Amino acid sequence: MGKVLIIGAGGVGTVVANKVAQNSKIFTDIMLASRTKSKCDAIAADVKKRTGVSIKTAQVDADSVAELTELFKTFKPELVINVALPYQDLSIMDACLECGVNYLDTANYEPLDEAKFEYKWQWAYQDRFKKAGLTAILGCGFDPGVTSVFTAYAAKHHFDEIHYLDIVDCNAGDHGKAFATNFNPEINIREVTQKGKYWENGKWIETEPHEIHKPLNYPGIGPKESYLIYHEELESLVKNLPTLKRARFWMTFGQEYLTHLRVIQNIGMARIDEVEFNGQKIVPIQFLKAVLPNPGDLGENYTGETSIGCRIRGIKDGKERSYYVYNNCSHKAAYEETGAQGVSYTTGVPATIGAMMFFTGAWRKAGVWNVEEFNPDPFMEELNRQGLPWHEIFDGDLEV
Ligand code: NDP
Repeated sequence: MGKVLIIGAGGVGTVVANKVAQNSKIFTDIMLASRTKSKCDAIAADVKKRTGVSIKTAQVDADSVAELTELFKTFKPELVINVALPYQDLSIMDACLECGVNYLDTANYEPLDEAKFEYKWQWAYQDRFKKAGLTAILGCGFDPGVTSVFTAYAAKHHFDEIHYLDIVDCNAGDHGKAFATNFNPEINIREVTQKGKYWENGKWIETEPHEIHKPLNYPGIGPKESYLIYHEELESLVKNLPTLKRARFWMTFGQEYLTHLRVIQNIGMARIDEVEFNGQKIVPIQFLKAVLPNPGDLGENYTGETSIGCRIRGIKDGKERSYYVYNNCSHKAAYEETGAQGVSYTTGVPATIGAMMFFTGAWRKAGVWNVEEFNPDPFMEELNRQGLPWHEIFDGDLEV
């Protein structure tokens, strides 16, 4: 029924490859392509052992539209799951338009030379995808992704109007390393060192990085210091849910992590511009990535779990109500199932479910869409089946 091309063979690509193979009734022909083919081959061999399903592999530089179109013309995928880096979003979308291929990703476009993510570049493709009759599904990981589907589900079933949204993201795992990031270090460090930003009463309010913080209690985990940061789904959610009076995003960080981050910034290792080194130009943050632990390799001794959810207040039948919907994911269980840790798992599983939604026709409409613009119900059902079960608390204390 479905011919799918996965681009990117990192932690998230590993999970997507495993999950599409587990659902081989829907994904009947699978290819994994990335910059380094040997990584695709290693993942394909592992997936074959775990599931018995064969995956084709290929080398591609996804910054090159010409290389992408050549690959698309040979393999002829119906859908591309882009789990390379945000820098490649636009070149992959261009190639999709050229070859008539549908598109899904988990992170919005970021220019390489500016640590600034926003949807304007990808939303600008709306007319071209519409005209071509192609579907583009944006931001289909956990956050963005599941958090936006959780919000759409709450709006559909539990509220007449949503007024306050707080997305809370806790990683209470321990990988045993002094410092490591849970997904691509370059993207992660660019994201968490930015200024904070949230939506209130029709406008964006900016804060200094990590200026606002407080302990929040996470189910099954307990209290963790949580920091207000800007996160990309806020941009589309405030547009698509105009009743929102306030929308914020909180993420937990340990003291050790923050101390390392401060040192990295203070000594210039988070810089994204080129510097001269021994007659060669290098970008410090890219060099840093080369010496940090590979997020894809953190899984083996990773203990603890993640807890990500939405805390929502609003009105139902004239009365105020609160609602908390969340998933907890064990790093160990994720590793045993796919060979990757929980953060890669919580991103790769929703990307696979989004692709299932496309192939089954539930999420198929010409144009460029954020996930909250689709029917949340079939996606929510599939989360329970595919390893990310969710739980609800009605009218509890949201703490926010
Ligand atoms: P990794 O760095 O582990 O993997 C990225 C992969 O993309 C690598 O295999 C890399 O190749 C490949 N790649 C990079 N550049 C190119 C290129 N020009 N052409 C082809 N392949 C390329 O990252 P993760 O797996 O941790 O993350 C993948 C994506 O998921 C990122 O965009 C990240 O932002 C997103 N993400 C989204 C989350 C969400 O909840 N929405 C959460 C976590 C991550 P090579 O191996 O050669 O370096």
